[in-house]
Amino acid sequence: MSITELTGLDVPTGLLIGGEWAKGNATFPVLDPATEEPLAEVADGTVSDALDAVAAAQAALPGWAATPPRQRADILHRAFVLMKERAEQFARLMSAENGKSLRDARGEAAYAAEFFRWYAEEAVRIEGTLMRAPSGGNRILTMHQPIGVSLLITPWNFPAAMATRKIGPALAAGCPVVLKPAEDTPLTALALAALLREAGVPDGVVNVVNTSDPASVVAAMMNDSRVRKMSFTGSTEVGRILLGQAARSVMSTSMELGGNAPFLIFEDADIDAAVEGALIAKMRNGGEACTAANRFYVHDAVADQFNQAFAARLRAMKVGPGLDESTDIGPLVNEETRSKVVGLVDGALASGASALLGGRAPERRGYFYEPTLLDGVAADSAILGTEIFGPVAPVVRFTDEADAVRWANASEFGLVAYVYTQDLRRGLRVSEALESGMIGLNRGLVSDPAAPFGGVKQSGLGREGAHEGLLEYTETKYIATDW
Ligand code: ADP
Repeated sequence: MSITELTGLDVPTGLLIGGEWAKGNATFPVLDPATEEPLAEVADGTVSDALDAVAAAQAALPGWAATPPRQRADILHRAFVLMKERAEQFARLMSAENGKSLRDARGEAAYAAEFFRWYAEEAVRIEGTLMRAPSGGNRILTMHQPIGVSLLITPWNFPAAMATRKIGPALAAGCPVVLKPAEDTPLTALALAALLREAGVPDGVVNVVNTSDPASVVAAMMNDSRVRKMSFTGSTEVGRILLGQAARSVMSTSMELGGNAPFLIFEDADIDAAVEGALIAKMRNGGEACTAANRFYVHDAVADQFNQAFAARLRAMKVGPGLDESTDIGPLVNEETRSKVVGLVDGALASGASALLGGRAPERRGYFYEPTLLDGVAADSAILGTEIFGPVAPVVRFTDEADAVRWANASEFGLVAYVYTQDLRRGLRVSEALESGMIGLNRGLVSDPAAPFGGVKQSGLGREGAHEGLLEYTETKYIATDW
């Protein structure tokens, strides 16, 4: 079945440069992770295509920056409306190329559209300040101006939301963009670009360059002084390379990198609520989320109760192709991701953990892995220090709050942490002590377009979402004056 028949969407497969769909000289395949069969062939962008896209964005910059904020807002609002209308088609497209269950994909389509709405609302709220200098000698006037051409690099785990979370604020701020989607999931990005054109985005303001060679194509754009901003969501490993490249032209960066979220359950927690939260924090998107709970620290007094209830819910989850309505957990995105999960679980089992559930990849075609619950995981097990990116929950027991906080903080990452307790003072005390950009306090989900999303330590730099996410695409200009 063609991708159009499968999704009901007319999905472009070219490169979008300066308002024209270009075919490119070669193509690369996009696979269906549930069958390992090709879904479509998309144009394979080169360094020269990427530089053309940068030139197109640069040419569009003066016009877009000068476009009245209300007009930019109206275009983003139209994009929101169109995406809501086509949410089901976008969900099917994401299930097809990423593998996620339709339920997860529907959630993402709605969440992704909300970034267009939020930033349509923010586009008309870009305010400066005016104050009298403390010396009384002059006035201090500040304004936020568009930073310039922005390079947006997105991962495959949330192919729509990670794109709209960057495109929304960039466009609201007045910045044209070049979007470089992940090679596993370019189709969603291409469909979004088509939707944005339909919503009225002028030529050159949104460009898309898919490529099977991200290292060379991105390096060329990072080396181009016309690009003034780079926003990346992906692994810390690639983030480090990009930060090195950004140094050359002193480029502004926003980096949303890896996570290793601890999920703390205290003895005074509401265990039913903790199980619900754990299901969302661990199993949403099959565990393929940088916010996924990666390590469960559970108080010894409630660990058996939690494990039993959590295992029962996991056992009831159905593993299958994402596009099958009854599926709870789709396949992982590719073989590399699955073999990483296999290696981590095998390592944990070899060093003394026990699998209360799952612990292996099923014998079937497609990159599937079973929901897995591991108890008695050794504190130095690699699975606790590595982003798992799969439906695997390792449990470590604790008896002392200070230990739980210390272990949770013993990581180079600090994106999000989850805390379950009914004691308000403990909840706030622990939230304050955790080295993390975001906390889910008695909640298994933190993402919201209106909230500042981002990490501390090696989980990243800057914030996406909220008003802060818009300011990442602006420069503050200060004018000293008097009258
Ligand atoms: P993940 O582990 O989630 O696949 P990656 O960091 O590998 O995350 O990928 C995130 C994005 O970074 C993708 O768009 C990918 O194409 C891009 N990417 C991967 N390697 C490089 C690189 N060397 N330089 C620039 N971008 C890269």
